[in-house]
Amino acid sequence: HLERIADVEPAVHAFLHVNAESAIAAAQAVDDDVAAGRQPASPLAGVPLALKDLVTMRGAPTTVGSKMLANWEPPYDATITRKMLEAGIVIIGKTNLDEFAMGSSTENSAYGPTHNPWDLTRVPGGSGGGSSASLAAFESALAIGTDTGGSIRQPAAVTGTVGVKPTYGGVSRYGLVAFSSSLDQAGPCARTVLDAALLHEVIGGHDPLDATSINEPVPSVVAAAREGALGSLKGVKIGVVRELSGDGYEPGVTASFDEAVDQLRALGAEVVEVSCPHFGYGLSAYYLIAPSECSSNLARFDAMRYGLRVGDDGAHSAEEVMSMTREAGFGDEVKRRIIIGTYALSSGYYDAYYGSAQKVRTLIKRDFAAAFEQVDVLVSPTTPTTAFAIGERTDDPMAMYLADLCTIPASLAGTPAMSVPSRLSGTDGLPVGLQIMAPALQEARMYRVAAAYE
Ligand code: GLN
Repeated sequence: HLERIADVEPAVHAFLHVNAESAIAAAQAVDDDVAAGRQPASPLAGVPLALKDLVTMRGAPTTVGSKMLANWEPPYDATITRKMLEAGIVIIGKTNLDEFAMGSSTENSAYGPTHNPWDLTRVPGGSGGGSSASLAAFESALAIGTDTGGSIRQPAAVTGTVGVKPTYGGVSRYGLVAFSSSLDQAGPCARTVLDAALLHEVIGGHDPLDATSINEPVPSVVAAAREGALGSLKGVKIGVVRELSGDGYEPGVTASFDEAVDQLRALGAEVVEVSCPHFGYGLSAYYLIAPSECSSNLARFDAMRYGLRVGDDGAHSAEEVMSMTREAGFGDEVKRRIIIGTYALSSGYYDAYYGSAQKVRTLIKRDFAAAFEQVDVLVSPTTPTTAFAIGERTDDPMAMYLADLCTIPASLAGTPAMSVPSRLSGTDGLPVGLQIMAPALQEARMYRVAAAYE
């Protein structure tokens, strides 16, 4: 994998940092165990993994794609990093992302864009484009993403890989740089459903260091994926979400989705149409809630505690140092969100904006609850289009936000959802993703359906 990285990185740029030495040492330790007849720590021992550069790991920088944290080295491991290292997984490097995970194309990274391995002129999605591109380019066998509004699933869809957003609270957020704390969730990325399931069971589970972690056993997703791989969906009821189709969806995406639904039927599932009337308001609610929480979370980057400090020359006041640092350290999209969020939370506007968005969130949760009375899982396309061209949407934030149309409802509801490659590519020959959504803690259902379809 390190050789492959050396070969293709100049074209793909999936990584911000490669830990060649520590990766070789970790792989050697697994080899030594095997040579000495010791049982490896887990089925994934020795498997190379790419870690989104928003998750902390001792001994490597965590930049979050921002100049604000250039060269910052965390003094501790995230809980998921620790669990993966204990499982013998070889973390080969840190992957590129939109700055502070804000974006849908990885173009908002302060360190240059990642290119989609299927067509180097296209984006790999975002914010976790580096993780998904590293899988599609065979630079890593597994990857970790984080999903606030779609940043695992949308990059998976446009790179032809698998990406899973677990139930909110199912995977620890301790050691992840916070964007929007009520939405952020780390999850597995892989090239197959079973690989994602194996990684899911390593990283999942209760963590006393994360106050929102759920104290429940990790869902048995490996068994579910193996059952699905037998190829029958008899007895499974699947709902097609009416509101996640129609205008704004590329014809190639719609055709691919329709074909996927036919396949699910052919595998024995019962398929019905389901209405989720409030999903259409998800995007507007998300783009108030996420910026509001980000404006609060990013207040910690004040030039006093971490990372960049500009103007600390004795000639400037502490306030001037703060504002000069934030001016220089944050990119345009991050500033836009901080301003929107600060406005939405300000007194006099709180009820009209943040309060209303939270009410929409409740209505979307109720839509899911009503739908899951009727069906086991819901399906939709993961994204309305295939990978768009680099530069195509950078001047139009609204067009960029539309990439998250289908992924946001499950984020707002805190329910699990995943993207698996559709069998039929788009009319442009590029990958299309099938999204599968399940009730909270019922990840096993979606892994079973995904593995049967795959
Ligand atoms: N693209 C969405 C945004 O810009 C989602 C990002 C994410 O899931 N981190 O907020």
